[in-house]
Amino acid sequence: MTTGVVALVGSREDIHIQEVGRRLEALGVASVVVDTLTFPDETRMSLTEDLAGIRVDGRELGRPAAAYLRGLHTHPLAHGVDASEAMAEDWRTTLTVFREKATFLLGVLGRWERLGVPLYNPPSADWGLHKPVQLGALGAAGLPVPRTLWTNEPEAVRRFASGGRVAYKPVMGGAATQELLPEDLTDARLAALAASPVTFQELLPGEDIRVFVLDGEVIASLHIVTSALDFRQNEERIEQVVLPDAVARQCVKACEVLGLRWTGLDLKRGVDGELKFLELNGSPMFLGFDAGGGTDVAGHFTRALAKHARG
Ligand code: ADP
Ligand code: MG
Ligand code: MG
Repeated sequence: MTTGVVALVGSREDIHIQEVGRRLEALGVASVVVDTLTFPDETRMSLTEDLAGIRVDGRELGRPAAAYLRGLHTHPLAHGVDASEAMAEDWRTTLTVFREKATFLLGVLGRWERLGVPLYNPPSADWGLHKPVQLGALGAAGLPVPRTLWTNEPEAVRRFASGGRVAYKPVMGGAATQELLPEDLTDARLAALAASPVTFQELLPGEDIRVFVLDGEVIASLHIVTSALDFRQNEERIEQVVLPDAVARQCVKACEVLGLRWTGLDLKRGVDGELKFLELNGSPMFLGFDAGGGTDVAGHFTRALAKHARG
């Protein structure tokens, strides 16, 4: 039996990286953390012209058996990065350094993809993580997506809002979703669109469902019970649910359409009773769902990585 090494790409301090590392060890599989948070100031890495030529912290890593991509920390706004002092002192040099770091790390992932390393998730799937293309591609594949408008045009918002209740949220995500109210449609309020485009979406009043898909199979589905519009930080209870077969098949298909090896999908039920796709996440958190809902995403995920390592 040949046992390869699994690369864990992210911060050593990240609880998901830690948990996956611990579980791999328990399965007898070696892993290496490619610490993208402490690179380049602490973590040392070298690449050669050989696609498999990589040294991490003084150790030849070579071609890993598989890789878990948790986060690259290549932007001052990335979670866990504190660049405020460096940015205040010299933003231009700081941004240049982040760009150099990003080019190096994306180069590493691209090399591994080129070598056929199973990547959770591959960088070639990055195009589909931007929500305007993501929802568009899912819709084009026949999957149910909410009526949506991404815009910075005040008039377009007013027209959109005349079609029923509307929610709004950032284009990228991360901030709270809110209902668009009549007082939001004033000239003064809509003038804020000159600062940034915003997502306007058919308001889905029904339940929040989170589904995890791994290697073409649904491995967990949960109902997040909440009375708030946006479930994040507002979970009251998480319960496992059995998805109708047709919905499970749609989730697997959505993952395939976007070229993801694994994902956490957010779905929400519309006024018409249909579950619609809100998003697929490229590096879903799972420990909170396992703890609250009694699922075993961590176990499924780690076993999938371990299987590659055992060849
Ligand atoms: P993020 O990337 O920030 O997680 P989501 O699109 O998943 O973005 O939205 C976050 C949460 O906000 C959803 O899980 C859901 O609870 C709520 N939400 C988002 N869009 C809508 C909508 N159109 N109608 C009702 N609730 C929504
Ligand atoms: Mg979400
Ligand atoms: Mg998201």
